[in-house]
Amino acid sequence: MSLADLRPRTYARLRSAAASAAHAFLIKGSRGAGLPAVARELAAMLLCEQGGCGSCGFCASVAADACFDLSRIGGGSPVPIAELRELLKWSTLAPASARRRVVIVEEVERLRTSFPVLLKSVEEPPPATSWIFTASTIPRELLPIASRCFPIDVDAPGGAELAAAMESAGLEPTAELKALVKGRLDRVELLARLGDPIAYFSQFRELPSLVRPEPGWLMELARRLDPESGGITGEGAREILRCGLEILAGTAVDWAFRASRAASGLDRNLSVRLVLAELLFRADSGG
Ligand SMILES: [Zn+2]
Repeated sequence: MSLADLRPRTYARLRSAAASAAHAFLIKGSRGAGLPAVARELAAMLLCEQGGCGSCGFCASVAADACFDLSRIGGGSPVPIAELRELLKWSTLAPASARRRVVIVEEVERLRTSFPVLLKSVEEPPPATSWIFTASTIPRELLPIASRCFPIDVDAPGGAELAAAMESAGLEPTAELKALVKGRLDRVELLARLGDPIAYFSQFRELPSLVRPEPGWLMELARRLDPESGGITGEGAREILRCGLEILAGTAVDWAFRASRAASGLDRNLSVRLVLAELLFRADSGG
């Protein structure tokens, strides 16, 4: 199923944006609304001779992230200023084979400090260059860029789209997993990378009983729960830990009530906090 079928209103907004004379676009939607894919869809509409036919060489190369006239930065990793400057230089070159060059800057809100470098090019872009920004929030510092863009609001994915995404990622759309996904496509991807997300998160549910007083055991538990040991780093690791903390918060009410009745519970409470502090510290220093 394509975006046109799954989110027709969003698709119609992309169509009218692509048909406009705008050279900068701001795609705005909630976290996990699949903004990178929406941005690629718009890029294909701008690069394809037929305005996004879905079957030509340009459309295929955009979908495969292999188009010479499309550059993409951001998306969870910090962007060094030198890389932004390179990108600006690239954006001034003539297109290689398409009718223009397109630059996608994902999660532009993360560029708060370096965006002034971009502003001039967005204000006076080279004639054959289009900018596509995606954002979940627009901090005040970014208003100068936002006000110069054609705004495109993206609807949240519906239940059918989420269930389909879960199935194609190898996750059974059970109530338990849907509760963890929380309506977000990015979480579907992350959960799938955990292998067996139910087993992984059940450790969070059992955290209070897993913790023993020995310091060595805390480190061992932190290692077991660390998403980085499964290869998930940076913002992804933090997001996985947030999922775990939601689960813990859901079970901790009952647990805290019981703990308050037993002095030993206070020690355990401290241990759990140490494990979580260790995990969050690692996720923060890795991201
Ligand atoms: Zn095409």
